[in-house]
Amino acid sequence: MIINPVVSYGSGRLGVSPAQVKTRRALAHACTVPKPRGRSATIDMGLQKCEARILDPAFALMSNPIHLLSCAIWDSWLPRSWIYRTWSSAFAFPETGSWRAVVDPLTAAAMSCARLGWSSVKPGTLRSHDGQIVCLTELCPKTVQVLAKRAVQKRLLRDMVDGDASLAGFGPDKVPWLLPLQKLVRCKYEDEWDACDVGFLRAVVAGAMPSSQKLYEQGVINNHTCQICGTLHAGVSHRLYDCPKRETWRRQYGLPDIIWHTAAAEPSNPFWNRALMPDPTGDLSVP
Ligand SMILES: [Zn+2]
Repeated sequence: MIINPVVSYGSGRLGVSPAQVKTRRALAHACTVPKPRGRSATIDMGLQKCEARILDPAFALMSNPIHLLSCAIWDSWLPRSWIYRTWSSAFAFPETGSWRAVVDPLTAAAMSCARLGWSSVKPGTLRSHDGQIVCLTELCPKTVQVLAKRAVQKRLLRDMVDGDASLAGFGPDKVPWLLPLQKLVRCKYEDEWDACDVGFLRAVVAGAMPSSQKLYEQGVINNHTCQICGTLHAGVSHRLYDCPKRETWRRQYGLPDIIWHTAAAEPSNPFWNRALMPDPTGDLSVP
């Protein structure tokens, strides 16, 4: 993705506003899938063969100011006393919540920290989104960058949950568990698992399954009835698990009835409709 170095150039100095991140992600998303409209950019770029941290410009754009601040302190680009002198006033800016408060690299780093849920403990020391103490004189810039990019991933997933009504059941601070899906997308193709299956899985997880209800809401068709059996408000759950006219298609998988019945009984559960469940590792303490 040669486009990413272009769009992220200079972001370490003065950062990138949330609106600019959104614009640049949309650009990268359009390069990733042919028809990105209505699909989750976080999913589409997170479920590719290469790492999302390379493909998605948000990782660099949102973490660069923190990484550059870390480099400035670690390598003493300036006398540390100069940086520490304005530290407190810079980290007071994020309370305004506006990117317009950014006037220099330090305020850009402070605002980037606030956006990722990081805070200042004292000059030269930060607390990460999961409570880890990040001392910029003890942790090398590379490590700080890795931690910041983890925070970016959490933020992107959290934004995805907040902006998608079908994931509202996840609860506070829960993000989708993408790791099993990433392993599935990246595993070697075999007779029963090829590029077509991967594309279909990615479309389902990204919320691009074209149910009658969804096409009606988008104005593509004139009514929200199932095109096969005529059921009203036919969503993804009906299409996959409940439509009586698709019974033969469902039977070919040979799955026990309880799976079909459970899935049909929980039409709003994203596990059945999007293959997504809350990340259980989020409850583990930091090592
Ligand atoms: Zn139907």
